[in-house]
Amino acid sequence: MRFESRRKRRQRELADLVFEPSWRIMLTARWPHWQRLSDAERSRLEDLTKAFVAEKRWEAAHGFELTEAMQVLIAAQACLLVLELDGDPFRGVTTILVHPTTLVLVGQRSTGTGGLVSSDPYPILGQAQFGGPTIVAWDAVSYDARHPWRGQNVVYHEFAHKLDMLDGLLDGTPPLVDDAMRRRWVEVFTREFNALRRGLPGNLLRDYGAENPGEFFAVATEYYFSKPVEMRAQKPDLYAALSGFYRQDPAARFPTVALAAEDPMSGTAAS
Ligand SMILES: [Zn+2]
Repeated sequence: MRFESRRKRRQRELADLVFEPSWRIMLTARWPHWQRLSDAERSRLEDLTKAFVAEKRWEAAHGFELTEAMQVLIAAQACLLVLELDGDPFRGVTTILVHPTTLVLVGQRSTGTGGLVSSDPYPILGQAQFGGPTIVAWDAVSYDARHPWRGQNVVYHEFAHKLDMLDGLLDGTPPLVDDAMRRRWVEVFTREFNALRRGLPGNLLRDYGAENPGEFFAVATEYYFSKPVEMRAQKPDLYAALSGFYRQDPAARFPTVALAAEDPMSGTAAS
């Protein structure tokens, strides 16, 4: 008698899972980015999404009803980040905790500037922690999915932190394939982080990226996937470094944007 290995069995079970047609309809309606992907990308993303929904532990904040459609919308956006990455880059993601809306943290926290500590109530849309749940606010997830070209996306942000944490440090540098890529990454990210910190003109990213290098990478990831054409034009080195890591070219999903004012996409991008 031969026994199937646990890994083989898991692969077979995942292959047997169906990506429900209703999920496809939901993603088409609620996440316009979905329609920008190629058929091959969508097919891979479906496989990653169904595995993510099935394998992760999902929790809802007290009194909140988490539906399967919500799980799929969160999972699909998270898995877009790892569409071209090898292995199991979300192995550090165990639980996703979904709150209905903004959470307000209380208690002392570091403000990230000069060792100052604040005890002011602190509203957040999400949080990623070592060894803890990845938290997102559902209203922000839903809004960001519907308005995918604003440069803000709480799912991309929190799951970028989880990729950053893969090497055990939340320092704005995820595991990179070789030393040359790491050197280039550190050079570009240090320069751009310092420019944002100093408030120099011409910065594309929002100020929150200046909090620390970890937040810079998470915010840069948001822009990379949701304002890729702008990032490629205004921050080509940053775009290239992120493309080296994510192995994607999201700006290429917008072949018409360069046609400027009369392009229908430019109206969408500004909304
Ligand atoms: Zn963050």
